[in-house]
Amino acid sequence: MNPGTLYIVSTPIGNLEDITLRAIRILKEVAIIACEDTRHTKILTSRYGIDTRLISYFQYNRIQKGEFLLKHLKDGKDVALVSDAGTPGISDPGAHMIKLAIENGITVIPIPGPTALITALVISGKPTHKFVFEGFLSNKSSQRRKRLQELTSEKRTVILYESPHRLTKMLADILEIYGDVDIVLARELTKKFEEAKRDKASSLLEHFTKTKPRGEFILII
Ligand code: SAM
Repeated sequence: MNPGTLYIVSTPIGNLEDITLRAIRILKEVAIIACEDTRHTKILTSRYGIDTRLISYFQYNRIQKGEFLLKHLKDGKDVALVSDAGTPGISDPGAHMIKLAIENGITVIPIPGPTALITALVISGKPTHKFVFEGFLSNKSSQRRKRLQELTSEKRTVILYESPHRLTKMLADILEIYGDVDIVLARELTKKFEEAKRDKASSLLEHFTKTKPRGEFILII
């Protein structure tokens, strides 16, 4: 029996309309959809009449569930990998499954679509011909600050992901290490409270010290 195919399917980063026709077809055709949070992905599958079996695959069960998915692939079943938002493998557990499939000779096919970093970059107004994606910097203050220090000599546009509860710490570190640089802060892209703030690090820090950060953030320096 021929092994199945692992499809890496990009899904919306907020607005459920941001999905391709091909992604919907593949999600309907495969035997299993591996997703981070089944309740979250269920909102998408219900919207498009997709009744494929959902299996949770996330950071803390990825070893065990990875083997389970691999067994199904080896048995000839097609699997689609999705994440809670955007493109699997970009700052989420998808990378582990992709590597496992490749190591086991499984065909991996991308179904392209949204990813938050490119969505933010193109509206930033910053140079897009050369950029560097750093994802989430370390939780550990000393490591985060060390990386920021290294990035100060970076000539390309720098893209960072950040969670709301760490945003002010990150802005304070940027202000101290980079100085009062211009930053684009993209928040809740494609969603109801979507916004892009283009301002100095000091003003953004002042704003988010007064107003509790909510939602999902991308910083572009
Ligand atoms: N795989 C995803 C992708 O392709 O972009 C990224 C997953 S990562 C776990 C989640 C982070 O992406 C968030 O903390 C935020 O920094 C960024 N992000 C995701 N959706 C976003 C949105 N709608 N607006 C702004 N940032 C977003």
